[in-house]
Amino acid sequence: MCSPHVVALPYPAQGHVIPLLELSQCLVKHGFRVTFVNTEFNHKRVLNALAEKHAIGDQIHLVSIPDGLELDENRNDLGKLSEAMLRVMPGKLEKLIADINLVKDDKVTCLIADGSAAWAIELAEKMKIKRVAFWPPAAGLVALSLRIPKLIDDGIIDKDGTPVKKQMIQLAPGMPSFNSANFVWACIGGSSTREFIFNLMVENNEYLKKAEYMICNSTFDLEPVAFTLVPQLLPIGPLLASSCLGNSAGYFWPEDSTCLKWLGRQAPQSVIYVAFGSFTVFDQTQFQELALGLEITNRPFLWVVRPDITDDANKAYPKGFKERVTARGQMIGWAPQQKVLSHPSIACFLSHCGWNSTVESVSNGVPILCWPYFADQFLNESYICDVWKVGLKFNKNNNGIITREEIKNKVDKVLGEENYKERVLKLKEIALNSVREGGQSNKNFKNFLEWVQE
Ligand code: UDP
Repeated sequence: MCSPHVVALPYPAQGHVIPLLELSQCLVKHGFRVTFVNTEFNHKRVLNALAEKHAIGDQIHLVSIPDGLELDENRNDLGKLSEAMLRVMPGKLEKLIADINLVKDDKVTCLIADGSAAWAIELAEKMKIKRVAFWPPAAGLVALSLRIPKLIDDGIIDKDGTPVKKQMIQLAPGMPSFNSANFVWACIGGSSTREFIFNLMVENNEYLKKAEYMICNSTFDLEPVAFTLVPQLLPIGPLLASSCLGNSAGYFWPEDSTCLKWLGRQAPQSVIYVAFGSFTVFDQTQFQELALGLEITNRPFLWVVRPDITDDANKAYPKGFKERVTARGQMIGWAPQQKVLSHPSIACFLSHCGWNSTVESVSNGVPILCWPYFADQFLNESYICDVWKVGLKFNKNNNGIITREEIKNKVDKVLGEENYKERVLKLKEIALNSVREGGQSNKNFKNFLEWVQE
């Protein structure tokens, strides 16, 4: 019998492509074949950034379909991107699967679509293939998305998603609490983008009902209450490259792995790792304040300054900064983050709290300093600081700035008090045990493999 053939469709953003590729690598490790469908725009970036083709494994076939936008159009406008995708991608994906199915012995067994691209689930139903929704974010976010009708009924948001008033929200005791102004759909772009994203989420919830399986990159013990709110959602995480084929893949920017050598020259648990994922941008004032904050910590730091993180990143540094920190500071364009976080020199992670970064930090026992920017990052911040207590929040001053002194104080605090490290090491064990033989995520994953093969 042929090995199962899975078509994997990520939502076209960095924090979605990486974990779905990790899942794909795990499937390949179990003898599956995977056709991984990026958008043309991202496909080119992934291929450009990929150092060795074999880094992703021979059994993963990287292919692409258009996302409906011209190559030079702004893909950070999520409303516009989503509208174009919905117009173009279903037809292209249907043709791709139909073409694969023309080849005898190569037929598609199962579609795994990102939970945010659940329109593809309906397509899989129509094409009579197994259909799975994979969620890269926290189960808490899935619970929140599915709770939208109740939030409207309870008068917490209007029918268009606008919070009726600013208030702290907690879906259930033991869940993170955060301000309703930070609902994932309420803190993205302008008002029309917000409304568009909200309507998309409402529609997405309908498509999700057709999924036969829902899995996510989390661990039951990290979010037990969220999993009781969405019992059909099964955790299979933490998905880490180290537990699949070894290397993370799917980067949109080329990684600078020279930093690993540099880390090797630093004292154990001494380095502040600073990275804000793939979307976060800074204005010049905040960028400079962050630089000066890192400088006055007097500690070594590794700072990921993506080329597009601020206007003209090269000129954005404070005067003389680079020269002053040259002996103990490294700025790079894109890090091999999972390898960095597992390095013994890392002391803490100053992060935007994307879910992947959060899970990666916890799985490596690294305390987190939280600097959320948008989307689900406020919910994740609350998990980190209020629920798990493995990190600290930054406070802004009256001008909305996180000052250099605040940065230094919080770095000193998180590294000065043993509790944060102790708690995060416990959490690391819990997370890693769940993917070991006999652990909950491991069992869920095995059951999932069996189901696909039935
Ligand atoms: N990442 C990386 N190198 C970097 C910055 C980020 O490899 O320099 C990876 C990180 O390990 C994570 C992903 O990019 O897997 C970012 O996802 P996350 O959910 O944390 O944030 P997003 O980019 O979606 O905001």
